[in-house]
Parts: sequence; C-alpha cells; structure tokens
Amino acid sequence: MVAMDDAVYQRCIDPNCDGVLDVKDTSFRCPRCGDLMDVAYDWDRLRPPTSWKFVEQKWSRRTDPLCYSGVWRFRELLPFAPPECVVTIGEGQTILQCADAVATYTGMKPGRVFLQYEGMNPSGSFKDNGMTAAFTHARIVGAKRAACASTGNTSASLAVYCSATGAMRAIIFIGSGKIAYGKLAQALDHGALTIQIAGDFDDAMARVQEVAGKLGIYLVNSINPFRLEGQKTIMYRILEALGWEVPDWVVVPGGNLGNVSSFGKAFGELHHLGLIKRVPRLAVINAAGANTFFHLTQRHGLRWESGRWDREKLSAHYRALDGENVRAATIASAIEINRPVNLPKALRALATCGGLAREVTDQEIVDAKAKVGSGGLGCEPASAAAVAGLRRLRLEGVVDSDERVVCVLTGHQLKDPNATVAYHSSDPKTFDEMLGRRGVRRANFANRAVQVRNELAEIIQAIEVYAR
Ligand SMILES: *Cc1c(COP(=O)(O)O)cnc(C)c1O
Ligand SMILES: [Zn+2]
Repeated sequence: MVAMDDAVYQRCIDPNCDGVLDVKDTSFRCPRCGDLMDVAYDWDRLRPPTSWKFVEQKWSRRTDPLCYSGVWRFRELLPFAPPECVVTIGEGQTILQCADAVATYTGMKPGRVFLQYEGMNPSGSFKDNGMTAAFTHARIVGAKRAACASTGNTSASLAVYCSATGAMRAIIFIGSGKIAYGKLAQALDHGALTIQIAGDFDDAMARVQEVAGKLGIYLVNSINPFRLEGQKTIMYRILEALGWEVPDWVVVPGGNLGNVSSFGKAFGELHHLGLIKRVPRLAVINAAGANTFFHLTQRHGLRWESGRWDREKLSAHYRALDGENVRAATIASAIEINRPVNLPKALRALATCGGLAREVTDQEIVDAKAKVGSGGLGCEPASAAAVAGLRRLRLEGVVDSDERVVCVLTGHQLKDPNATVAYHSSDPKTFDEMLGRRGVRRANFANRAVQVRNELAEIIQAIEVYAR
C-alpha cells in the first residue's frame, strides 16, 4: 500500500521497526507495532534549503499568505503539502522578547533570557502552529470532521480554525470542571460541538481516540505527527529572531509532550541539513502534580536508548498511578496530564538535544507567572512553569548565568483569568478556592487592588501613598 518511492511518508519512531504509512493515512499509529509515527522526508530527493536565505527571501513578500505565516514561510522544512493545499489564518506572528526582569528573577545575567511569546497566535496559544499543519493535512485527505481531547487550548485552536475556514466541523472532548474559562469561552463562541466527559483529560484523551477511530473523524491531538511538523517552526522563529544563532537552552513546559518532541525533531533535522552547527539543550518542565516525565527520566533513569527504552518502567508507573487512584492536579491546567501520549518522542528529543526534565510546584508556577506579567508579557500558568523551571535549573547550577536561554511562553494570560485574579486577590476565599487548596501558601508578588471609599480626598491620598 505504501509506495516507498514517495519522498514524504510516515515512519514508525522505533528505529528497530520498519513500519511505514502513506502520507495520507490518518491512523497515526504504526501498523506493525502500534507505536507513534513521524512524518518522514527523503531529503536527498526533496532538495532542502542549504542556507537560511530561503526564508529571508520571503520577508519582502508578506502579502502572500504563505510568506506571511510564521509557519509556512518555513514550508521547505515541513514539505508534506503542496502549497495550494495549505490552510493558514496568519498564525505564528510571534515575538522573541529579551526579558531582563525575568533574568533577574531566575538568577540569570541581563540580556541572557528571552521569552518566545506564543500567546500572540490567533487563538492565543502555540497550538495554532500545529493546527494549521494538521488542518492542511486534513484538507489533503478530504476530512469533514475533526476532533480532539483538550485541556483547553487545542480545542480553542481547533474551534478557531474551523470557524475561520469553514472547512470542517469541530468536535471537542473536555474533562469536567478542568478547563480554564478563557479556553472554554473560545470553544463555545466559535461554535464547536463541545462534549464534556465526566472524567479528566486522560480519560477524554483515551475516549477521543476510540471515537475518532470508530467514526472516521480526523484527530488533531498531538499524536497527529503533522501537527508536530507545524510546531517545529516555533524553533525556527527563535533562530530567526536570534540572527540564526542557536541558544544554549530552550525551556518548555511539558504536558502531552508534543512541543518538546517537535523541537527535538526540528533541531535534529536542522543539524542533519547543515543549517545549524550545534543543537541547544532542551529542558522540559512538569508541574509537580503531573510529573510523569520528570519522575521517569530523572528518578528512574528512563532513556530513549535508540528506541529500546524500558517500556516496563512506564507500565509500572501507570499501574502505580491507577492502584493509588492518583489523578493529575495542578493550577497549570494545560499541563495537567499524567499520561503524556508523546512520551517516547520526548525521550528521543532529550537524547537528540542532551535534554533533561524538572518539576516545579504550583507555588513556584504562580509566583513565576506574576514575575512574567510584571516584566511585560502576560502568560497562563502552564507557560510560567518554564520560567519557574529555569529558576530551579539556575539554583542547581545546571544552567550558567551567562548562557543564552529561551523560555517558551506557550499561552496568553487571558486564557485563565481566574488564576490571575485569585493570585492578586485580597479575598482569602477567592485565593483559597483556586490556589490555597493546591498548596499555594502565599502570593509572593501580589498586586492587590486598593479599596477606598468613593471620596476624592481618600482617592487622592491612596494614589499619593501607593504611586508616588
Ligand atoms: C498544550 C499546552 C502545553 C503543553 O504542551 P505539550 O505539547 O502538550 O507538552 C503547555 N502550555 C500551554 C499553554 C498549552 O496550551
Ligand atoms: Zn512500529
């Protein structure tokens, strides 16, 4: 069935398995062993770019949507789709901000910490980088309906792409009571069919795969390797913003581990193609209440081992979680995931990039989030985990204070307004409901509203006292 003379196809990620799929297959699982698939390119035949000039030539042609998009201006590095099939809504207009306030907070020297702000995407999170690629693939295969399980941002992105293009119907599976309001608002406003399951994300993820398989609905979760192709471009844009220099570290929050997987693939390919001379190190940051990846890699030494990774370690961990009925629990709802579907790919990414994992508490996350906000760009709690993680790595001495570090701010501040307001609130009940019950003891950088009576003199006095 698979014409192996195709220059683009899907290949099992296990180097010891020779399972392949046609580029148009939508099962996204290895037909031989059931493992995850990669989008694979026969670069010798695709004639890939040999210098970054191929992108720079597009900068003057920004009226062409394929040159304007922050994803598709790099399309020669994800060449699975004919240009006329590409679905783009202008995603990827994101910025790399040098963030000295965050540098100070994390113990780094000024000028050494950068925030890659993915909150500027059309739906407010990095997920749009992947969604445009998945949508493009869905169009190639002629899909009519698309589904995902989501902690919120994948569903928001899917809903935006469906409503903006009219190309497909969106079907969204969410866990009950687990989704941040900004994200739920998007799914509803953009007209997605929203199915709220009595369960959490891990339950919804298992169900959506079952239902999508049964009904032949196109799946846009990050198990979809085409989505990860789009997310590679986050790294290309970082390099672009740094004048094609490779940073020393890229720090990213880890949930389903799609991002870190795609970053590892991106750097592996760029190195193979000679577009970069060395790869950065990757740091994946888990929330302590959803720390499967940290737990297995750092405490149990789980490694990729050229694809021969110890699957029993993972099964034993899941059995233990089930046995004690442990559920993922963190304020950072976007990474509140105990069974990350891309775990094997993430192991491979760490091997490619000399990477590591860390965990941070909700206390560290919300404090880091306040520091990010007061320093300029606002982010949601999951994104702040990257900054909290950098702070830890600096305290441990793993990262040097003058190394160049990029933290990926995965989602916009307004995604989860409740978390932000609770942090800054002076009302103990508001604080406790959102944060106190998660073990956050205090808002170390709270910016509390000042309560005054409606009297001119009192208002003026408040301003003179608090904003001298
Ligand atoms: C999806 C998401 C994550 C987790 O990314 P993975 O690729 O699943 O590891 C982190 N932060 C935000 C804001 C997200 O939406
Ligand atoms: Zn296989």
